[in-house]
Amino acid sequence: MSDNSVIVIGGGVAGLTAAALLSNEGVPVKLFESHHQLGGCAGTFRRGPYLFDVGATQVAGLETGGIHERLFRYLKCSMPAAELLDPACLVDLCDGSKPIRLWHDPQRWLEERQRQFPGSESFWALCSALHKSNWVFSGRDPVLPSRSFWDFFQLLKAIRFQNIAAGLLVPFSIYDLLKVCGCNTDSRLKKFLDLQLRLYSQEPSETTAALYGATVLQMAQAPLGLWHIYGSMQKISDELERCCKRNGSKIFLKHKVVGLTFEQDKKINWTVDVIDPNGLALQLPASDIVCSLPPQSLLKLMKSKSKLSDHYLETIRRLPRPSSAVVFYGALPKKALPIKKFSHYQLATKDLGSLFISISQDGDGRAPLGKLTFIASAFSRGEEWFELDKITYKQKKEDILSKIMDNLQLRLNISRSSWLHTELATPKSFAYWTGRPYGIVGGLGQHPLRFGPFGLSSRTPIKGLWLCGDSIHPGEGTAGVSQSSLMVVRQLLASRGYHLNIPK
Ligand SMILES: Cc1cc2nc3c(=O)[nH]c(=O)nc-3n(C[C@H](O)[C@H](O)[C@H](O)COP(=O)(O)OP(=O)(O)OC[C@H]3O[C@@H](n4cnc5c(N)ncnc54)[C@H](O)[C@@H]3O)c2cc1C
Repeated sequence: MSDNSVIVIGGGVAGLTAAALLSNEGVPVKLFESHHQLGGCAGTFRRGPYLFDVGATQVAGLETGGIHERLFRYLKCSMPAAELLDPACLVDLCDGSKPIRLWHDPQRWLEERQRQFPGSESFWALCSALHKSNWVFSGRDPVLPSRSFWDFFQLLKAIRFQNIAAGLLVPFSIYDLLKVCGCNTDSRLKKFLDLQLRLYSQEPSETTAALYGATVLQMAQAPLGLWHIYGSMQKISDELERCCKRNGSKIFLKHKVVGLTFEQDKKINWTVDVIDPNGLALQLPASDIVCSLPPQSLLKLMKSKSKLSDHYLETIRRLPRPSSAVVFYGALPKKALPIKKFSHYQLATKDLGSLFISISQDGDGRAPLGKLTFIASAFSRGEEWFELDKITYKQKKEDILSKIMDNLQLRLNISRSSWLHTELATPKSFAYWTGRPYGIVGGLGQHPLRFGPFGLSSRTPIKGLWLCGDSIHPGEGTAGVSQSSLMVVRQLLASRGYHLNIPK
């Protein structure tokens, strides 16, 4: 391997985006993916005639200038065929009131929330002002958190006057904004915000940073939007894979990275231990490593023994553990869904908390005509599943599956007998298929003390070790992890004296 080689670990959207960008700039890249296919949490799996999205089902950033569109345009990739979701979701607070529809048209959304949450307009106006300021800032590719002079310079370049004003709200939570606007006594509004924020930030309104929450609460509205990809979510990874290969990246499937060793005195500092599909142990040198796995994976992978790596691993060990999820995958005849069908619902269930539902569209490639795939996910504590013996694990799984089906019968009127296929993935299944410790989903919660400037840096203190993915700014979702990959690639290239600027 040459002196300027980079090894990318993980072939989800983050790793693939990093590999595509690096190889596009002529850097020799090897990407190792432990699974037999790419895509990670935004991949798919097949069951007979049905194709299920593993995790991600709605995509942000496909509009012109959105992060996926921007990078795909730069990389000369084809955009996956997709449809804008309008409404993006129906949020049912399950309190007997009418569900809240997240319309794409800002005027329609204004009318909806005035009907649903009368008297809350000052709160939404404040969120809108913060969101506009955030968007100007993030469009200038800031590096957060800054860990070098170059990072800090990128941050300074991105700041405008309005960001300084918004910056005063850095320590605030979304709940603080509700209080400032006198809306904190509206329990329906609070319940709605808690549900929605949990999806994007893993935290409720009290502990979601105001600056982060203000933006994610407006992802569904123009000029942004949420999209449904035809075929499957795998289309994003397929296109990135094509781009990587076209640019000369080498992609190794079923190759699991099992160790990382840093040696200061070597010309090429890193050695990566990999197990190939035949169980053979390989050792590969690399000058830089881009790790797209959750940072908690480094606790097992890092073999280097030094004060610096011990200190860094201690920082990672202390990170709060993100949530895990249980995911129901089902298929049913279209006619078994009696009410008017939308693609996404979020239900506030009594027994499972937020239940987020994604339904395929007839003929969108996920199920034969006249049939639909149905995915419903709820948060769960990962460690609870790992402590169980086989029998209790099976019972717990059956219990959750049954609760999900009961909720679907109660809220969407889907009779239990209509299911053509049902199965449940637990945090253990996610840990097995995606290698995420305890099956954690999403990144670190976007708490005022942990978001953006206070988060985990993509530039680690150990030379040549870089992180991207959903624990890195700006956080989870395929759009978020792509942004993190752009940031880390710019940092890595800048460390080699090359400045990557991608047109807006
Ligand atoms: C249930 C669920 C629902 C979601 N819904 C949405 C949604 O609707 N919209 C949205 O935008 N996002 C959603 N997300 C989040 C989104 O899927 C993730 O934030 C994003 O896909 C993470 O991408 P990544 O590349 O950072 O990580 P991953 O997708 O986890 O990719 C990491 C890759 O590394 C591989 N790997 C792990 N260990 C090793 C190893 N030792 N060696 C080699 N390879 C390894 C894994 O197999 C995996 O392919 C959802 C996630 C889940 C779980």
